[in-house]
Amino acid sequence: MWGQKHKKLAVALTCADWRLHQRKVDLNSRLAKLLGVHGVDLIAVPGPDGLTKPERSSEWQATIGQTKLLIGAHAPRALVVAAHQRCAGHPVSDAEHETDVLATAKALKAETGFDGPVRAVLAVYHSDTAWALKPIGEF
Ligand SMILES: [Zn+2]
Repeated sequence: MWGQKHKKLAVALTCADWRLHQRKVDLNSRLAKLLGVHGVDLIAVPGPDGLTKPERSSEWQATIGQTKLLIGAHAPRALVVAAHQRCAGHPVSDAEHETDVLATAKALKAETGFDGPVRAVLAVYHSDTAWALKPIGEF
């Protein structure tokens, strides 16, 4: 891709929920800013912080494969798991989202063998068009 070698990139595993991806929220640019990169590849699945549950193992394996492909193709500086409150794909409490997004970031690092930082971030709900990004941890 044009210019790619000169760009610092990251890969985000996030939710498919439209609310995060509308122009007003602009999750992609905000993650880029948070991570200090020019662009962020997105892997979007419903409820990304629920992917390590046993019943989602085939989905998790597919996600690992997609992440590895992007690591190989784009040499990202960082990975991030960006979960959000009020998620239909992983309907748990706000506290559980924090625990689960951390666990997912840790597992993503372990299973991809990525040697850079893997961040865990939670999008905190204010309204459908207003979300705060809360850093939860890093592995
Ligand atoms: Zn969601």
